[in-house]
Amino acid sequence: MTKHAGFPTDEAVTAVAAPAPVGLHFTPFPPPKSAARDCKKLPALHVDLAAPAARFESMKASSPRRAADAELGDWMEMHPSALAAFEAALGAAKGKQIVMFLDYDGTLSPIVEDPDSAVMSEEMRDAVRRVAEHFPTAIVSGRGRDKVFNFVKLNELYYAGSHGMDIQGPAKQSNKHFQANGEEEVVHYQAGSEFLPVIEEVYRTLTAKMECIAGAKVENNKYCLSVHFRCVQEEEWNAVDEEVRSVLKEYPDLTLTNGRMVLEIRPSIKWDKGKALEFLLKSLGYAGRSDVFPIYIGDDRTDEDAFKVLRGMGQGIGILVSKFPKETAASYSLRDPAEVKEFLCKMVKIKGAGDGPVKQMNDLVVHADL
Ligand SMILES: [Mg+2]
Repeated sequence: MTKHAGFPTDEAVTAVAAPAPVGLHFTPFPPPKSAARDCKKLPALHVDLAAPAARFESMKASSPRRAADAELGDWMEMHPSALAAFEAALGAAKGKQIVMFLDYDGTLSPIVEDPDSAVMSEEMRDAVRRVAEHFPTAIVSGRGRDKVFNFVKLNELYYAGSHGMDIQGPAKQSNKHFQANGEEEVVHYQAGSEFLPVIEEVYRTLTAKMECIAGAKVENNKYCLSVHFRCVQEEEWNAVDEEVRSVLKEYPDLTLTNGRMVLEIRPSIKWDKGKALEFLLKSLGYAGRSDVFPIYIGDDRTDEDAFKVLRGMGQGIGILVSKFPKETAASYSLRDPAEVKEFLCKMVKIKGAGDGPVKQMNDLVVHADL
């Protein structure tokens, strides 16, 4: 059966991809054929009279491996590793206040078959905690806010759940950055709360429908629903898609989008992770200021809204977490959560201690041990 065009298949490829060649950041995509050579089947020797250089170019052009490598190389030039190009990535942050925005699934935690098991490591939690000591830090997730908080378990962060439709700032006593806004209230924002009853209704309907499809799981993220099909046989993917679409025909005020092996349903309102990023910057008192440098790290299509906002602002950087070339508005890339942790640790390590944020950031860029 043909795969649904909208379904990402990164993970399926991961299982068979060959290791990246030395010096390459990404595993070749598509993976090279690994069929063993059989000399007996070689055609009769052909004498190629073309000039060596032309012949070599011809060989390169006809080689899938070379073509894939070339594609990766081109992509990496446009989206360099935020680790390898750390100094360049943070060069524009000199003298500015960094604000960190972190997606959760696939960014701080590995993508796993059971979405309820997507726990983050203690090492990652410690890295996020230390980053938040130096920079205002927000988790921006498609998950419900309560659910993502239960995974991260850090009181000192901002949490934007349900793709940013449900935002909560840190408790006052643990919010050292809140003074930037000069306000007393804890940040709290809920977009589309009038949709809660209909979301609940669709959740019940879809849960009943998906009982017939082995491996399908409907997750209620309060302001949005996620239909996970990571554990569904590929032959059943279309059935998942069709069932979801048939239910949504009755709810024109809801929108369907694709994530990584998940269909996501949310209110048709102009609110996304990009809007959440703008809202949080404003809440922190940084709206319209040129001395702010937001860094957004995410792996999903829904994170593209935030990457685009940063592009539009002409400030900060978006970092896409991916092992494969993808169309993205992000400027830089990291391969996986392990590299995200390394990046966070690097930011903390070079920041040092003792000075104010701006002075430290200047030191960070000047004295970065790269
Ligand atoms: Mg994600």
